[in-house]
Amino acid sequence: MERTFTALKPDAIKRGLMGEIIKRIENKGYKIIGMKLMNVPEELAKKHYEEHLGKPFYERLIRYITSGPVLAMVLEGENVISGLRHIVGKTSPDDAEAGSIRADLCMTKEYNIIHASDCPISAKREIELWFNENELCSNYKTALEILMGI
Ligand code: GDP
Repeated sequence: MERTFTALKPDAIKRGLMGEIIKRIENKGYKIIGMKLMNVPEELAKKHYEEHLGKPFYERLIRYITSGPVLAMVLEGENVISGLRHIVGKTSPDDAEAGSIRADLCMTKEYNIIHASDCPISAKREIELWFNENELCSNYKTALEILMGI
């Protein structure tokens, strides 16, 4: 079972899209094992996006991610890192496949509404950056799984 990090960016919260996006994640079958709504401190935003330091959009990206609440989550599931990226879609909503979150729910590349870790190394780094292990509720089971002794 794999874990990944995802964050709904401020526009998703301000536009009331949390439920819609969470529904897509849950319908796929991924388990949400960590979740917190937070105002992101600038220091955390800078660490999260450190690979983009120096790029033309970097300052605006930091301003955006610190401009309102972000819903940070850790998900668990089979191949969840690449699977979630597939559901999220390409960085620009214009390139993202119809049916993906970015294609369906946002208009601009710079102010897209969701982040998802792009590889196992990023997922590990980002989960550790945003969450303490004791904030994660791993291994919870459905009633059926308990009944079947899985
Ligand atoms: P992601 O993994 O698909 O989110 O893409 P990246 O890690 O490359 O970029 C992080 C975030 O920076 C993206 O989600 C966008 O919000 C923003 N971004 C990335 N590339 C560009 C770009 O070329 N122009 C602008 N304006 N914003 C960008």
